[in-house]
Amino acid sequence: MSDNKPIVIIGAGVIGLTTAVRLVESPLFAASKHPIHILANHLPNDPLDPYYASTIAGAHHLSFADDSDLRQRTYDTRTFQVMYNEWEREGEKTGLMVLKQTEYYVGTDSHLKVYEDHPDFTVLDKSTYSAPVDHSVSFTSLTMTPSVYLNRLLKKLEGKVQIHRHHLPSLSHLSHPSCTALIGSQSPLAVFVCTGIGALTLGGVEDRDVYPTRGQVIKLRAPWMRSGWTRQVGSLDGGEGGERTYIIPRYNGEVIIGGTREQGDWYPYPREETTEDILKRAQEICPDLVPPYTKGQEMSSSPLEEIVEGVLVGFRPSRIGGIRVDIGDDLYLGNDKVKVIHNYGHGGAGWQSCWGTAEDAVDQLLKSL
Ligand SMILES: Cc1cc2nc3c(=O)[nH]c(=O)nc-3n(C[C@H](O)[C@H](O)[C@H](O)COP(=O)(O)OP(=O)(O)OC[C@H]3O[C@@H](n4cnc5c(N)ncnc54)[C@H](O)[C@@H]3O)c2cc1C
Repeated sequence: MSDNKPIVIIGAGVIGLTTAVRLVESPLFAASKHPIHILANHLPNDPLDPYYASTIAGAHHLSFADDSDLRQRTYDTRTFQVMYNEWEREGEKTGLMVLKQTEYYVGTDSHLKVYEDHPDFTVLDKSTYSAPVDHSVSFTSLTMTPSVYLNRLLKKLEGKVQIHRHHLPSLSHLSHPSCTALIGSQSPLAVFVCTGIGALTLGGVEDRDVYPTRGQVIKLRAPWMRSGWTRQVGSLDGGEGGERTYIIPRYNGEVIIGGTREQGDWYPYPREETTEDILKRAQEICPDLVPPYTKGQEMSSSPLEEIVEGVLVGFRPSRIGGIRVDIGDDLYLGNDKVKVIHNYGHGGAGWQSCWGTAEDAVDQLLKSL
């Protein structure tokens, strides 16, 4: 094996960047110094774009893993552990906020078992909430401010990884002059596919099981909010079923409220009627969102409207069968064989599973060499 063949990561969302961090920390990089390159259409600090899900996300750590789905539970639990440790060591400048999370359920009297592993897990007594909620639990969880956390990942890669804005139409284009000008003329040792929704169209991958789950959310300025709330109506069904309302406070005083989960819907702009519905639902589950200084005032519109900072839309990179983390068929560039490691299809759970899947993807490469 040539010692200085490059390793390429396609994608600079939370999945591509966490994969790059774990690669840089791996013995493979330390021992042989393979140059690492990231190629991506979108980079952190770009204007928000529905096709760049990592920057649109809320984001909170609230696993959707079914009780029997041990793989997803492991990814999510590991990610919680990594982020919680970061917060313990460095506090909120990480972009992470640890908070009390309360979950309301309507139409079911059970919760996902994975929540029982969180600190401070409690089943709330029925006398503490009112109808029409059927079941409620609370526990300690955390939220992320995507722009801050993504920039922190970039900082960890500084001087170790070269990042290029580049659209790759197909894996075979890695040997095209437009690409070799960036990564050098040697064929890569391996390529990680961390393209999110782009896995649907990237030549050589074109995974037809990938589809968008449109999400519309509202960003508020409400620094008095320091705890999170959700209400799930109907079955969660792996994260995409029923109606889900959530309130996600961030450490910096922003609060994301949502949301929608519209499968197969590519409409990239906010829908006015959805915005009104989210404002109404959020206020129903958390009256404390109303600015304290407006209480008691006569208002013609929603009291939340004056704290709205923006309405965002993004496409969650969903996949039939769940996240794909595996080694695919080898890619041939001329006579050179290139390992292909997939790490995409995280749906609505990419933030809460990123470290678990990054570690799995890098381990799989190491074991395959
Ligand atoms: C409204 C909303 C709320 C969400 N809330 C949460 C939450 O609370 N918790 C949670 O865990 N998750 C949440 N998610 C889901 C989470 O955002 C995604 O699962 C995660 O961001 C996926 O990350 P990714 O890196 O795979 O994809 P992305 O962030 O979309 O990044 C994909 C990268 O690949 C690049 N790329 C794609 N194709 C190509 C190509 N052909 N050539 C070059 N580059 C390419 C893109 O430019 C980009 O850099 C939410 C998502 C949305 C939309």
